[in-house]
Amino acid sequence: MVYKDRGGKVRLDDISTEPPKAITKEKARKRFETLGQELFELQDALWGAKLNSVLVVLQGRDSAGKDGTIKHVAGCLNPRGVSVTSFGVPTAEEREHDFLWRVHRHAPRLGEFALFNRSHYEDVLVVRVHKLAPKALWKERYGHIADFEELLAEHGTIVLKYFLHISREEQEERLLEREHAVGTAWKLNANDWKERSRWDEYTEAYEDAISKTAAPHAPWIVVPADKKWYRNLAVAESICDALRGRCAAWKTALKEVGRKRQAELAALRAKR
Ligand code: ATP
Repeated sequence: MVYKDRGGKVRLDDISTEPPKAITKEKARKRFETLGQELFELQDALWGAKLNSVLVVLQGRDSAGKDGTIKHVAGCLNPRGVSVTSFGVPTAEEREHDFLWRVHRHAPRLGEFALFNRSHYEDVLVVRVHKLAPKALWKERYGHIADFEELLAEHGTIVLKYFLHISREEQEERLLEREHAVGTAWKLNANDWKERSRWDEYTEAYEDAISKTAAPHAPWIVVPADKKWYRNLAVAESICDALRGRCAAWKTALKEVGRKRQAELAALRAKR
């Protein structure tokens, strides 16, 4: 489900966390492979043309698969020109600045592809649910976020925001699985269980964040994420969809540069 307009009603409980029936794991695997190659080529043109940049924001509850998605999507890209930034509890220095300060410095340069594991949205999610700031403060942040993302878009950044949508049952299974295996228990902390008890408050906070900041230049995409193979496919598919339409302009720019280079080289050769 894609949200491109501010103010639309978002009801997460009405959106399935399961893949559409028609898609099998095998079909998804093949499609992901094809998309991976396309993504690599799109990124190559993005990097060379330097007309745009890409910002992929990943949000979701604990164990929704932010890390896994980054691993699979970034795994299709050329590491040159890719950055991954995780946003945890703000440091003392970060708290002494406005909430966008720590985020803006990681926004991608033209040609770059940035992935955020959590983001500025935490400042209207965890901050709201845990009352870490007064309502009067976090309420204003929706507008600041919308303006910030508009600024990025004006600078050529393609902003794509994903909510990885898992069910309560799937989350419980994943948390238990992590806890029970000694090799993965380190990924879990007591907070993850505590956060789970605030499920409905987070739902409300996510619904507001999505409906108050969705825009044509910075859409929210709610991804059914109970199946990891479908989640990865859906994110890759939607990134390709967003970049494909820009690629002709990137290739034209690259040819232009190519022609100039050829002329320079021919002139040099003629002088020899
Ligand atoms: P994750 O849960 O994202 O996989 P993690 O458990 O290793 O990662 P960190 O990356 O260290 O934890 O930090 C994530 C935590 O930081 C989350 O609980 C998140 O809610 C919290 N956090 C992020 N941004 C803020 C913020 N602006 N204010 C308060 N807490 C924040």
